Amino acid sequence: MTRIAYLDGAFLPLADARVSALDRGFVFGDGIYEVSAVLDGGLVDNASHLDRLMRSLGEISLALPVTRERLIEIQKELIVRNDLAEGVVYLQVTRGAAEREFGFPKDATPTLFMCTQAKNIAASPSAATGVKVKSVPDLRWQRCDIKSISLLAQVLAKQAASEAGCFEAWMVRDGLVTEGSSSSAFLVLADGTVVTRPNSNAVLPGCTRKALLALAAEGAIRVEERLFTLDEAFTAAEAFMTSASTFLYPIVELDGRPIGTGRPGPVATRLREIYLDFARRDAADPANRP
Ligand code: PMP
Repeated sequence: MTRIAYLDGAFLPLADARVSALDRGFVFGDGIYEVSAVLDGGLVDNASHLDRLMRSLGEISLALPVTRERLIEIQKELIVRNDLAEGVVYLQVTRGAAEREFGFPKDATPTLFMCTQAKNIAASPSAATGVKVKSVPDLRWQRCDIKSISLLAQVLAKQAASEAGCFEAWMVRDGLVTEGSSSSAFLVLADGTVVTRPNSNAVLPGCTRKALLALAAEGAIRVEERLFTLDEAFTAAEAFMTSASTFLYPIVELDGRPIGTGRPGPVATRLREIYLDFARRDAADPANRP
């Protein structure tokens, strides 16, 4: 089946989607992206992702070239045109094509590109087995709260993890874990308390994290938002990661050392079930379906 993408007003085969070589996304990494999950053909927690998109765009003074309502229509049309049951809708906005000068161009039109990727999220084998993580230095800039398409540090982090046989990298700054290369990071203490770093400029405010913390509160699961060291992570009872494209994966090994029993823990397993339940309900809401 031909994959259909959206680029600047048109739906077209992904292979035919072309932007200028002078696009500032290509030349400078000057743009913002978002990823929303699709489950059973419906969008999951999409309003949260679009809120974060608008915030990121505002932080770099970049205008969305369509209305928020139109963006949602395009997301839904891509789901239909690609017959997407489960996976993600990707979108990115760049500052458009212009003569190569660092400062903002006066007359460039932002480029909006969107596509879908099919992915097994609900029945992902990694959710059952858990995943391995490698720690790496956090090489990123000081505005990690902006969902920038400039992802070189994360690319290098994920590659280092992959070469070590790991699924994810945990980035460490000043001895403290910031987050995963493309996920939020959590520990579970022996008493069942969930620990995660508070939002700040040092991390991306995860939408899955936000929803999960609200669900944990409803489920009377204790959460502490505080900094934690890599050393604390080694001695944690459990660890896990969250993101739109994985929901929640238990972490069973960090830098070659088992976390807890070395198998997915009960708190991570229960939280995944709670989140999956929420995601299924949200995706079933007519407002989130094509
Ligand atoms: N941190 C980083 C650095 C990420 O790239 C992501 C995934 N986009 C996350 C956290 C998780 O965010 P979300 O739950 O909104 O996907």
